[in-house]
This record gives sequence, C-alpha cells and structure tokens, in this order.
Amino acid sequence: MAIDPVCKMNVEPEKATAKAEHAGQVYYFCSDTCHKTFTADPEKYTSGTAPADHSCCGGHK
Ligand SMILES: [Zn+2]
Repeated sequence: MAIDPVCKMNVEPEKATAKAEHAGQVYYFCSDTCHKTFTADPEKYTSGTAPADHSCCGGHK
C-alpha cells in the first residue's frame, strides 16, 4: 500500500491512476489532479509538512 502524498489517501500501486518519481522515490496518486498538483511542487509534498490537500480531488473519506 502506498500513500498519495497530496491528499494522504491510501492508494494501491497496481490501481493507482498516476505515478511520479521524485528524488529516487516513486509516489502513487489517486487521480490525475493529485499527480499534477504534486509535479507542480514536489518539494512541498515530499517534505511531509504540507497538510492533506483534498481540494485537488474533491475530498476523500
Ligand atoms: Zn489524491
């Protein structure tokens, strides 16, 4: 199980909509929107200081 770094949702790598590599680490995303948000500012989401951003995909449970 992987965690979408943008919205902090659990994502199964095999079912992830998108993935990106940053600093040697692979990240998986629940949606293309999360993917785009991440690639626009990867440092923000890999630093671990950004709060979960649910606006990108309309909110998760
Ligand atoms: Zn997401």
